Amino acid sequence: GVQQTPGDRLPRYVRVNTLKTTVEDVVDYMKRDGFTYRGQALRLEDLTLKDREFVKDLHLPELLVFSPKAHFHDHFLYKAGHIILQDKASCLPAHLLSPPPGSRVIDACAAPGNKTSHLAAVMKNQGRLFAFDLDAKRLATMSTLLLRAGVTCQQLANQDFLKVDPDSPQYQDVEYVLLDPSCSGSGMVCLRDNASTDKEKEKEEARLASLASFQLRCLNHGLRFPRLKRLVYSTCSVHSQENEEVVTACLQQNPGFRLVPLLAQWPERGLEPLSQCLRASTAKTRTHGFFVALLERCREGADARR
Ligand code: SAM
Repeated sequence: GVQQTPGDRLPRYVRVNTLKTTVEDVVDYMKRDGFTYRGQALRLEDLTLKDREFVKDLHLPELLVFSPKAHFHDHFLYKAGHIILQDKASCLPAHLLSPPPGSRVIDACAAPGNKTSHLAAVMKNQGRLFAFDLDAKRLATMSTLLLRAGVTCQQLANQDFLKVDPDSPQYQDVEYVLLDPSCSGSGMVCLRDNASTDKEKEKEEARLASLASFQLRCLNHGLRFPRLKRLVYSTCSVHSQENEEVVTACLQQNPGFRLVPLLAQWPERGLEPLSQCLRASTAKTRTHGFFVALLERCREGADARR
């Protein structure tokens, strides 16, 4: 039969697109559709669900959780853009960055745009959301996704983020940056780490080093926007080279920024000493492997005390 991967055992997460509907309306729709609503989850164990059951997530307010067997790709609410099929961990960056309506925001490596549409929902479609991606094909997919999701505050550009000029007048009021750059993808539970021979391991190390250097360049670049207040950095990697090590190097090079302690109730933290950051995994958070850091500019004059 069909091979079971660990991915098949992860809960099915459904993000409610608040640009089009409300959590209550989706809950009602699903109940009428034959699902049994078990209320608000209070513990991680509450995310272990039987076939037709669902709950509200315990950490993210716009997230519903279903059994691994539930499939929504053909569902009316998905096709109408009322729900977005997005792993719970990947909902963290926009939720934590939390740009207020009316603000100027950059999504640096945006395609296919799940986090962009989440940002737009948080911003209530008010303000300006500049989204960049190097890959034209992925950007085209993204435009379709954003249209379906009812996003209207975006400005898409097929552009290398590293070549975006932070001093250009159009970005002078940018206060928030979401940076989710290309990574090894080692957190995706369906991708196996196949490196077994010495030669393969060497190749994998070289690949990680090159990704980490790209990620650090993106991070440093993101911090160059003159009015920047907060930047969220995320990867779907489990390797510290792409996560804690990139953030540590960046903080050393940018003493005017510091880490914001994230969600005290989240069960998995960044590797010491970066416990302000979050990690995610199948075992501890019932998601794909993931990493999130939130950097903020230190208050004026606070620099000298560091
Ligand atoms: N944030 C996206 C989402 O939630 O749907 C996923 C982003 S994916 C991890 C990384 C993206 O970065 C890819 O689409 C890739 O094409 C893009 N990318 C890679 N290098 C880039 C660069 N220098 N400038 C802009 N985008 C880049």
